[in-house]
Amino acid sequence: MQNKTLSAGDQVESRCTKCRKVTNHIVIAMTGDTPSKVQCNTCEGQHKFRAPTAEPKKRAVRKPVDPKIAEQKAWDKLELDDTQAVAYSMDKAYKVGDVIKHKKFGLGQVQEIGGTRKIGVLFADGLKTMRCK
Ligand SMILES: [Zn+2]
Repeated sequence: MQNKTLSAGDQVESRCTKCRKVTNHIVIAMTGDTPSKVQCNTCEGQHKFRAPTAEPKKRAVRKPVDPKIAEQKAWDKLELDDTQAVAYSMDKAYKVGDVIKHKKFGLGQVQEIGGTRKIGVLFADGLKTMRCK
């Protein structure tokens, strides 16, 4: 940890963009207590100060959303019209948005046409892949 106040001309470790590693740098300019501009002792390149502990920027890793939760949310948003529902049969052709009624799963809505003769249908129970024509 830094326990002394730096000033211009001091040595400081910084991540160097050219060397792609932490090298010794000379402080060129300060902003408050933090070096704002530094010069690399190795490649003599000048650049903004990057704290050696700072990891190179990674793409923000998002926690994958639990598909079950996502499906539940999607389901909660659906307002299915019971009267529009057609009884599910694998001999029928469907399109996205169709409301169907399944013997076992109840009311559902076609979310996707997935591959050959398959549809993804969202039921209260979650997304199911169903056969279709
Ligand atoms: Zn360098």
